[in-house]
Amino acid sequence: MIELTDVTKVYPGGVRALDNVTLDIGAGELVAVVGPSGSGKSTMLQMLGTLDRPTSGRVVVDGHDVSRLSDRQLSALRATRIGFVFQQFHLASGVPALDNVADGLLYAGVGLAERRRRAEATLERVGLGHRLDHEPHELSGGERQRVAIARAVVGGPALLLADEPTGNLDSASGEGVMALLRELHTAGTTLVVITHDREVAAGLDRQVRMRDGRVIADGKATRGEAQVARW
Ligand code: ADP
Ligand code: MG
Repeated sequence: MIELTDVTKVYPGGVRALDNVTLDIGAGELVAVVGPSGSGKSTMLQMLGTLDRPTSGRVVVDGHDVSRLSDRQLSALRATRIGFVFQQFHLASGVPALDNVADGLLYAGVGLAERRRRAEATLERVGLGHRLDHEPHELSGGERQRVAIARAVVGGPALLLADEPTGNLDSASGEGVMALLRELHTAGTTLVVITHDREVAAGLDRQVRMRDGRVIADGKATRGEAQVARW
């Protein structure tokens, strides 16, 4: 699903946010990316999601070499194949949940009625069938994140990328959101979750550990303290 080969990202000003990262993620995997603040996790997610291009190295997503695609082709790839979930939800304020989710299909070439029909079905799937008309400010944090997840998956992406999806939630809503993400993974979506919550990470199949822009460990997680199989 994703191959990063010797990927380096240097931001203007000289910060080397990713330093020669090589990583393969197969279709159907469930991967946690962990590491301290500033270690390059979000930058890595930008690469995995084709939101930004590397300074050097190769990024292949869903069979496409990102360096060979135009910005327009990348947008199309994201719109059809990749869903994103962020810590801050990024919902449109003043817009009902139904339309926030329906907007996830704006580039899918379906009419408004069909977008709304699919949005409703997806909101039901995330347990919010009773909140279709609620605007973001009328929803709890956990509900907002569920709406954001519904929007991310309404188009049926092969790859779902989540950056600290439980970072703004109390532990009970966070667990609910993680349970929902795991369910989506079980239903066939490749899922990459960035988290600095050790408990969240420990519940996921594979942990990629970052520090100073490098992958310092990559291995299977077990319940409780993470075990690192390969250094
Ligand atoms: P993490 O998500 O692990 O906290 P980031 O990928 O956000 O880490 O950041 C990695 C490093 O790159 C940090 O030193 C950060 O300050 C820097 N950085 C992130 N985004 C930018 C940017 N747009 N411009 C310049 N520096 C950035
Ligand atoms: Mg981050």
